[in-house]
Amino acid sequence: MADLMKGKVAAITGAASGIGLECARTLLAEGAKVVLVDRARDKLEQLCAELGENALPLVVDLLKPAEVSGMLPRILDIAGKLDVFHANAGAYIGGPVAEGDPDAWDRMLNLNINAAFRSVHAVLPYMIEQKSGDILFTSSIAGVVPVVWEPIYTASKFAVQAFVHSTRRQVAPHGVRVGAVLPGPVVTALLDDWPKAKMEEALANGSLMQPKEVADAVLFMLTRPRNVTIRDLVILPNSVDL
Ligand code: NAD
Repeated sequence: MADLMKGKVAAITGAASGIGLECARTLLAEGAKVVLVDRARDKLEQLCAELGENALPLVVDLLKPAEVSGMLPRILDIAGKLDVFHANAGAYIGGPVAEGDPDAWDRMLNLNINAAFRSVHAVLPYMIEQKSGDILFTSSIAGVVPVVWEPIYTASKFAVQAFVHSTRRQVAPHGVRVGAVLPGPVVTALLDDWPKAKMEEALANGSLMQPKEVADAVLFMLTRPRNVTIRDLVILPNSVDL
Protein backbone atom coordinates (compact mmCIF):
# COMPACT_ATOMS: atom_id res chain seq x y z
CA MET A 1 0.00 0.00 0.00
CA ALA A 2 1.15 3.50 -0.80
CA ASP A 3 -0.32 5.65 1.99
CA LEU A 4 -2.51 7.35 -0.63
CA MET A 5 -4.96 8.49 2.07
CA LYS A 6 -2.47 9.32 4.82
CA GLY A 7 -3.61 12.23 6.97
CA LYS A 8 -7.21 11.97 5.74
CA VAL A 9 -10.30 11.22 7.81
CA ALA A 10 -13.18 9.43 6.13
CA ALA A 11 -16.59 8.59 7.57
CA ILE A 12 -18.47 5.75 5.88
CA THR A 13 -22.08 4.84 6.62
CA GLY A 14 -23.20 1.22 6.55
CA ALA A 15 -19.59 0.26 7.26
CA ALA A 16 -20.29 -2.86 9.34
CA SER A 17 -20.92 -4.97 6.26
CA GLY A 18 -20.39 -5.47 2.54
CA ILE A 19 -19.26 -2.53 0.41
CA GLY A 20 -18.91 -0.06 3.29
CA LEU A 21 -16.69 -2.43 5.24
CA GLU A 22 -14.48 -3.11 2.22
CA CYS A 23 -14.17 0.63 1.54
CA ALA A 24 -13.14 1.09 5.18
CA ARG A 25 -10.51 -1.65 4.87
CA THR A 26 -9.12 -0.13 1.67
CA LEU A 27 -8.89 3.42 3.02
CA LEU A 28 -7.36 2.17 6.29
CA ALA A 29 -4.76 0.25 4.29
CA GLU A 30 -3.92 3.52 2.53
CA GLY A 31 -3.27 5.31 5.81
CA ALA A 32 -6.62 7.03 6.44
CA LYS A 33 -8.40 7.29 9.76
CA VAL A 34 -11.88 5.87 9.17
CA VAL A 35 -15.05 6.44 11.18
CA LEU A 36 -17.22 3.40 10.60
CA VAL A 37 -20.84 4.47 10.97
CA ASP A 38 -23.52 1.82 11.42
CA ARG A 39 -26.41 0.88 13.66
CA ALA A 40 -25.07 -2.65 14.28
CA ARG A 41 -23.24 -1.81 17.51
CA ASP A 42 -21.77 -5.20 18.44
CA LYS A 43 -20.57 -5.98 14.93
CA LEU A 44 -19.11 -2.50 14.55
CA GLU A 45 -17.18 -2.61 17.81
CA GLN A 46 -15.82 -6.07 17.10
CA LEU A 47 -14.76 -5.07 13.57
CA CYS A 48 -13.04 -1.90 14.71
CA ALA A 49 -11.12 -3.83 17.36
CA GLU A 50 -9.86 -6.10 14.57
CA LEU A 51 -9.15 -3.29 12.09
CA GLY A 52 -6.81 -1.38 14.40
CA GLU A 53 -6.54 1.98 16.10
CA ASN A 54 -7.41 4.03 13.01
CA ALA A 55 -10.82 2.36 12.73
CA LEU A 56 -13.27 4.30 14.88
CA PRO A 57 -16.79 3.00 15.51
CA LEU A 58 -19.75 5.37 15.53
CA VAL A 59 -23.15 3.89 16.29
CA VAL A 60 -25.86 5.79 14.43
CA ASP A 61 -29.32 4.69 13.34
CA LEU A 62 -29.66 6.59 10.09
CA LEU A 63 -33.43 6.21 10.22
CA LYS A 64 -33.48 8.50 13.27
CA PRO A 65 -33.19 12.09 11.98
CA ALA A 66 -31.90 13.43 15.31
CA GLU A 67 -29.03 10.92 15.27
CA VAL A 68 -28.17 11.92 11.70
CA SER A 69 -28.20 15.64 12.40
CA GLY A 70 -26.01 15.06 15.48
CA MET A 71 -23.45 12.95 13.62
CA LEU A 72 -20.90 15.64 12.66
CA PRO A 73 -19.89 16.76 16.19
CA ARG A 74 -19.49 13.10 17.16
CA ILE A 75 -17.24 12.45 14.14
CA LEU A 76 -15.15 15.52 14.95
CA ASP A 77 -14.97 14.47 18.57
CA ILE A 78 -13.54 11.03 17.82
CA ALA A 79 -11.52 11.76 14.66
CA GLY A 80 -10.62 15.47 14.93
CA LYS A 81 -11.68 16.42 11.40
CA LEU A 82 -13.54 15.18 8.33
CA ASP A 83 -12.24 15.05 4.76
CA VAL A 84 -14.45 12.39 3.16
CA PHE A 85 -18.08 11.51 3.83
CA HIS A 86 -19.25 8.34 2.11
CA ALA A 87 -23.05 7.95 2.14
CA ASN A 88 -23.01 4.22 1.54
CA ALA A 89 -25.70 2.66 3.73
CA GLY A 90 -28.67 1.39 1.81
CA ALA A 91 -31.29 -1.31 1.67
CA TYR A 92 -32.77 -3.29 -1.18
CA ILE A 93 -36.21 -4.53 -2.14
CA GLY A 94 -37.02 -6.18 -5.45
CA GLY A 95 -40.05 -7.91 -6.84
CA PRO A 96 -43.42 -7.17 -8.43
CA VAL A 97 -44.89 -3.79 -7.48
CA ALA A 98 -48.37 -5.26 -7.24
CA GLU A 99 -47.23 -7.69 -4.55
CA GLY A 100 -44.98 -5.28 -2.64
CA ASP A 101 -45.30 -3.96 0.91
CA PRO A 102 -45.50 -0.15 0.78
CA ASP A 103 -44.45 0.12 4.44
CA ALA A 104 -41.25 -1.77 3.64
CA TRP A 105 -40.76 0.52 0.62
CA ASP A 106 -41.04 3.52 2.95
CA ARG A 107 -38.28 2.15 5.18
CA MET A 108 -36.02 1.54 2.18
CA LEU A 109 -36.74 4.93 0.64
CA ASN A 110 -36.12 6.59 4.00
CA LEU A 111 -32.69 4.99 4.24
CA ASN A 112 -31.62 5.21 0.59
CA ILE A 113 -32.89 8.74 0.02
CA ASN A 114 -33.89 10.74 3.09
CA ALA A 115 -31.20 9.51 5.47
CA ALA A 116 -28.50 9.90 2.83
CA PHE A 117 -29.57 13.45 1.97
CA ARG A 118 -29.93 14.36 5.65
CA SER A 119 -26.43 13.10 6.38
CA VAL A 120 -25.00 15.25 3.60
CA HIS A 121 -26.94 18.19 5.03
CA ALA A 122 -25.28 17.46 8.38
CA VAL A 123 -21.68 17.52 7.09
CA LEU A 124 -21.80 19.97 4.19
CA PRO A 125 -21.65 23.27 6.13
CA TYR A 126 -18.40 22.05 7.77
CA MET A 127 -16.87 21.15 4.39
CA ILE A 128 -17.97 24.44 2.83
CA GLU A 129 -16.47 26.29 5.78
CA GLN A 130 -13.13 24.49 5.40
CA LYS A 131 -13.36 24.94 1.59
CA SER A 132 -12.53 21.29 1.03
CA GLY A 133 -14.09 17.87 1.27
CA ASP A 134 -15.34 14.90 -0.71
CA ILE A 135 -18.84 13.49 -0.55
CA LEU A 136 -19.37 10.11 -2.14
CA PHE A 137 -22.49 8.03 -2.58
CA THR A 138 -22.78 4.33 -3.18
CA SER A 139 -25.43 4.53 -5.84
CA SER A 140 -26.05 1.63 -8.23
CA ILE A 141 -26.26 0.71 -11.87
CA ALA A 142 -29.96 0.89 -10.97
CA GLY A 143 -29.44 4.65 -10.66
CA VAL A 144 -29.02 4.96 -14.41
CA VAL A 145 -30.70 1.84 -15.82
CA PRO A 146 -34.29 1.09 -14.74
CA VAL A 147 -33.91 -2.53 -13.65
CA VAL A 148 -37.18 -4.39 -14.30
CA TRP A 149 -36.99 -6.57 -11.19
CA GLU A 150 -36.61 -3.67 -8.73
CA PRO A 151 -38.73 -0.58 -9.58
CA ILE A 152 -38.74 0.96 -6.10
CA TYR A 153 -35.03 0.40 -5.47
CA THR A 154 -34.33 1.78 -8.95
CA ALA A 155 -36.41 4.84 -8.13
CA SER A 156 -34.38 5.39 -4.95
CA LYS A 157 -31.08 5.29 -6.81
CA PHE A 158 -32.35 7.56 -9.60
CA ALA A 159 -33.16 10.03 -6.81
CA VAL A 160 -29.62 9.65 -5.49
CA GLN A 161 -28.21 10.37 -8.95
CA ALA A 162 -30.34 13.51 -9.30
CA PHE A 163 -29.16 14.74 -5.89
CA VAL A 164 -25.52 13.98 -6.67
CA HIS A 165 -25.59 15.85 -9.99
CA SER A 166 -27.29 18.98 -8.67
CA THR A 167 -25.36 19.11 -5.41
CA ARG A 168 -22.05 18.62 -7.22
CA ARG A 169 -22.61 21.77 -9.22
CA GLN A 170 -23.92 23.70 -6.22
CA VAL A 171 -20.92 23.03 -3.98
CA ALA A 172 -18.06 22.85 -6.50
CA PRO A 173 -17.34 26.58 -6.13
CA HIS A 174 -16.75 25.92 -2.40
CA GLY A 175 -14.03 23.32 -3.04
CA VAL A 176 -16.29 20.39 -2.13
CA ARG A 177 -16.47 17.47 -4.56
CA VAL A 178 -19.50 15.19 -4.88
CA GLY A 179 -19.56 11.91 -6.76
CA ALA A 180 -21.10 8.47 -6.88
CA VAL A 181 -19.94 4.96 -7.54
CA LEU A 182 -22.53 2.87 -9.38
CA PRO A 183 -21.85 -0.86 -9.11
CA GLY A 184 -23.76 -3.73 -10.64
CA PRO A 185 -24.63 -6.64 -8.32
CA VAL A 186 -22.07 -7.10 -5.56
CA VAL A 187 -21.73 -10.19 -3.38
CA THR A 188 -22.97 -8.87 -0.01
CA ALA A 189 -25.79 -9.54 2.45
CA LEU A 190 -27.91 -7.11 0.44
CA LEU A 191 -28.52 -9.78 -2.18
CA ASP A 192 -29.68 -12.38 0.37
CA ASP A 193 -33.28 -11.91 -0.78
CA TRP A 194 -32.52 -12.31 -4.46
CA PRO A 195 -34.50 -15.15 -6.03
CA LYS A 196 -32.39 -18.25 -6.64
CA ALA A 197 -32.94 -18.06 -10.42
CA LYS A 198 -31.69 -14.48 -10.59
CA MET A 199 -28.60 -15.32 -8.59
CA GLU A 200 -27.86 -18.30 -10.83
CA GLU A 201 -28.26 -16.14 -13.94
CA ALA A 202 -25.91 -13.48 -12.59
CA LEU A 203 -23.37 -16.10 -11.60
CA ALA A 204 -23.64 -17.78 -15.00
CA ASN A 205 -23.04 -14.57 -16.96
CA GLY A 206 -20.28 -13.37 -14.65
CA SER A 207 -22.16 -10.24 -13.53
CA LEU A 208 -21.55 -10.55 -9.79
CA MET A 209 -18.74 -8.37 -8.51
CA GLN A 210 -16.78 -8.34 -5.28
CA PRO A 211 -16.90 -5.49 -2.72
CA LYS A 212 -13.17 -4.91 -3.30
CA GLU A 213 -13.87 -3.82 -6.89
CA VAL A 214 -16.14 -1.10 -5.55
CA ALA A 215 -13.65 -0.10 -2.84
CA ASP A 216 -10.88 0.24 -5.44
CA ALA A 217 -13.14 2.45 -7.57
CA VAL A 218 -13.82 4.62 -4.51
CA LEU A 219 -10.09 4.90 -3.79
CA PHE A 220 -9.47 5.90 -7.42
CA MET A 221 -12.09 8.65 -7.19
CA LEU A 222 -10.84 9.99 -3.87
CA THR A 223 -7.24 10.15 -5.01
CA ARG A 224 -7.85 12.27 -8.12
CA PRO A 225 -6.02 15.60 -7.78
CA ARG A 226 -8.20 18.12 -5.96
CA ASN A 227 -8.59 20.28 -9.08
CA VAL A 228 -10.20 17.31 -10.87
CA THR A 229 -13.97 17.04 -10.46
CA ILE A 230 -14.96 13.61 -9.23
CA ARG A 231 -17.91 12.53 -11.30
CA ASP A 232 -19.70 9.20 -11.28
CA LEU A 233 -18.05 5.88 -11.88
CA VAL A 234 -20.23 3.08 -13.23
CA ILE A 235 -18.93 -0.45 -12.74
CA LEU A 236 -20.79 -2.13 -15.54
CA PRO A 237 -21.81 -5.74 -14.96
CA ASN A 238 -21.73 -8.19 -17.87
CA SER A 239 -25.49 -7.87 -18.15
CA VAL A 240 -27.77 -5.05 -17.03
CA ASP A 241 -30.83 -7.15 -17.86
CA LEU A 242 -31.06 -8.48 -14.32
P1 NAD B 1 -25.04 -4.66 3.27
O1 NAD B 1 -26.40 -5.14 3.60
O2 NAD B 1 -23.93 -5.65 3.22
O3 NAD B 1 -24.61 -3.49 4.26
C1 NAD B 1 -25.50 -2.47 4.62
C2 NAD B 1 -25.07 -1.89 5.97
O4 NAD B 1 -25.93 -0.79 6.26
C3 NAD B 1 -25.20 -2.88 7.13
O5 NAD B 1 -24.00 -2.91 7.90
C4 NAD B 1 -26.35 -2.33 7.97
O6 NAD B 1 -26.23 -2.57 9.36
C5 NAD B 1 -26.26 -0.85 7.65
N1 NAD B 1 -27.53 -0.17 7.90
C6 NAD B 1 -28.75 -0.57 7.46
N2 NAD B 1 -29.69 0.25 7.96
C7 NAD B 1 -29.05 1.17 8.73
C8 NAD B 1 -29.48 2.24 9.53
N3 NAD B 1 -30.77 2.56 9.64
N4 NAD B 1 -28.55 2.98 10.18
C9 NAD B 1 -27.24 2.67 10.08
N5 NAD B 1 -26.78 1.64 9.35
C10 NAD B 1 -27.67 0.89 8.68
O7 NAD B 1 -25.22 -3.94 1.87
P2 NAD B 1 -24.18 -3.50 0.73
O8 NAD B 1 -24.42 -4.37 -0.44
O9 NAD B 1 -22.82 -3.33 1.26
O10 NAD B 1 -24.81 -2.07 0.35
C11 NAD B 1 -24.16 -0.84 0.55
C12 NAD B 1 -24.65 0.13 -0.51
O11 NAD B 1 -24.33 -0.38 -1.80
C13 NAD B 1 -26.16 0.37 -0.54
O12 NAD B 1 -26.43 1.75 -0.73
C14 NAD B 1 -26.62 -0.41 -1.75
O13 NAD B 1 -27.81 0.10 -2.31
C15 NAD B 1 -25.42 -0.24 -2.66
N6 NAD B 1 -25.31 -1.23 -3.73
C16 NAD B 1 -25.26 -2.57 -3.41
C17 NAD B 1 -25.18 -3.48 -4.45
C18 NAD B 1 -25.17 -4.97 -4.17
O14 NAD B 1 -25.48 -5.74 -5.10
N7 NAD B 1 -24.80 -5.43 -3.00
C19 NAD B 1 -25.10 -3.05 -5.78
C20 NAD B 1 -25.12 -1.69 -6.05
C21 NAD B 1 -25.23 -0.77 -5.01
